[in-house]
Amino acid sequence: MATKKELIYEGKGKKMWATDDPNLLIAEFKDDLTAFNGVKKAQEAGKGALNNTISTQIFGLLESKGIKTALVEKLSDTEQLVRKCQIVPLEVIVRNVATGSLSKRLGIKEGTNLPFALVEFCYKNDELGDPLINDEHCLILNAVKTEQDIDRIKHMARQINTIMYEFFEQKGLRLVDFKVEFGVDSEGSIILADEISPDSCRFWDIKSGQKLDKDVFRQNLGNVKVAYEEVLRRILS
Ligand code: 5GP
Repeated sequence: MATKKELIYEGKGKKMWATDDPNLLIAEFKDDLTAFNGVKKAQEAGKGALNNTISTQIFGLLESKGIKTALVEKLSDTEQLVRKCQIVPLEVIVRNVATGSLSKRLGIKEGTNLPFALVEFCYKNDELGDPLINDEHCLILNAVKTEQDIDRIKHMARQINTIMYEFFEQKGLRLVDFKVEFGVDSEGSIILADEISPDSCRFWDIKSGQKLDKDVFRQNLGNVKVAYEEVLRRILS
């Protein structure tokens, strides 16, 4: 069992701790909720534990379908053991249905089914407000080393989308869009990192259209924890 050592990074949703094994970190899921680049903030007791469980389930599903991830194992309610990797400073967004910033930016009506899964890149930089960038910006910013890395990331993002879309459809949820992050492991392979949870995905109930994700918090639509609990209930059903 890896032993928790010093805090090496604290983000909006997680703390990352070193362990006595240089190749392993402990990710601790926080109860903090933030939106609009940290402008809207709240605490929701139990949210971290829910996201830890949901993300562990989804990463397990993806691993079972051949996607390499950083997850080693869930350690406790709020903690998981992960492989250390160098995070690619991109938010990789995959969209099946137009909403959020896509609808705002391009005027595509909310709820429009997109003709294919759209992959977008945002440069992870809080000061700049995580701007949308294209493939060439990724290279100029050294966010990735080669065009092949960009192709690989896009390919993995689409594979993740296909697996998750089918899985959630069976659970009565429409996977509208999501954000993922990738890392480069010690062997130079690109792996899925960070988390996949209702903090980073949009889920709409297929029958009622009800939103069951962080938009409940962003748009004051009700109790965010109840929504996340429903997502977990569907996953386990
Ligand atoms: P949008 O660009 O429409 O705001 O978000 C697209 C998708 O990516 C949504 O599922 C949203 O939750 C996710 N997303 C975008 N930016 C972030 C971010 O900074 N953090 C997290 N956790 N998710 C994000």
